[in-house]
Amino acid sequence: MPLQFVQRIAPQEYVSEINAYDRLADGLRARFIKRVLFLHGTKALQKARRYLPDLSEAGIATVDVPFGGECSKNEISRVIGIMKEERVDGIIGLGGGKVLDTAKAAGYKAGSFPVILLPTMASNCAAWSPLSVLYTDSGASIGHEIYPHSSSLVLVEPRVILDSPLDYFIAGVADTLAKWYESDFLLTHTAKNRLALRLSREAARLCRDIPLKFAEQAIDDMKNGRLSDEWINVMETNIMAGGLVGGFGDEYGRATAAHSIHDAITARPETHQFLHGIKVAYGIMVQLVIENKWDEMERLLPFYKSFNLPISLADLNLDSLSQSELRVIADETVRPKALIHLHPLNITAQNVLDAILQLEDWAGKNHYKIRDLSN
Ligand SMILES: [Zn+2]
Repeated sequence: MPLQFVQRIAPQEYVSEINAYDRLADGLRARFIKRVLFLHGTKALQKARRYLPDLSEAGIATVDVPFGGECSKNEISRVIGIMKEERVDGIIGLGGGKVLDTAKAAGYKAGSFPVILLPTMASNCAAWSPLSVLYTDSGASIGHEIYPHSSSLVLVEPRVILDSPLDYFIAGVADTLAKWYESDFLLTHTAKNRLALRLSREAARLCRDIPLKFAEQAIDDMKNGRLSDEWINVMETNIMAGGLVGGFGDEYGRATAAHSIHDAITARPETHQFLHGIKVAYGIMVQLVIENKWDEMERLLPFYKSFNLPISLADLNLDSLSQSELRVIADETVRPKALIHLHPLNITAQNVLDAILQLEDWAGKNHYKIRDLSN
């Protein structure tokens, strides 16, 4: 089947600067919004509150709605219900990826209302991409959906994101790094020669090069509350460069093997304590084994060491799994709907299992002890 190739490049307006929220009232007015639903995470609002303007002074009514916790079909329907009942003209989402994804879904499905996003973390490209990752009410991932409608305005207040949890930021860097590795094989093995694919590839390259060069400094700066250029570049790479890979490339720039491995290991309760990007980082390594790219793994090793990213099953609490349990993970990785089938190598469950075991040998030779970086 040919891959989908539709360009949905960016939000209509994006501003990332100190005092970005000061543009909110004018941004709403410019969109003819007089009454707006304000969906927000609780912690997110605590961190962002002191930078938020009083919209009532600008004559804009706000309907305050705390986020229910998951970007699920029920939560999206609940928010759409309030939008209709309260007759709002737009929706603001303030928070992490799930809040933003819910605001995008509700804004679109309520009738293509303008969506204004205020991300409070940079752990993924949710603020950029016109899609939502959907979960059940209990938090199991059930895929994603794409909208023919970009967010109308994205306002990034860097001081809010600088104050967000460090472990989420690191997980976001790892998830962004995957954009290069997951699209690399596909984009170098396609016969399609189109400008959008070159742009997707350049964005993906930045998803690798900027973190490899600046993430260490950036994370040190974040620990110390320093709003440095390095930190801003890494933060925006997570949001913007990550979003542009799929924005230009569509299915040529989507997740492939590393995320399918992530999805399969996420079914194991032992891994629930690890953030999404951390498990994706392990998936990158398994994918590189499948692609026989041992040099690239050596190149990544110091980066993995400095951020405590997993390279072995033990790093993910999975070292006591039996061969048959590993086989289940391998089977799950290549289940019929898995994104791994976008990868040109026709990867089988046996390939995945062999790669996990080969990676164990390699990790044994290169091992390091995972430290707690969360403080
Ligand atoms: Zn991801």
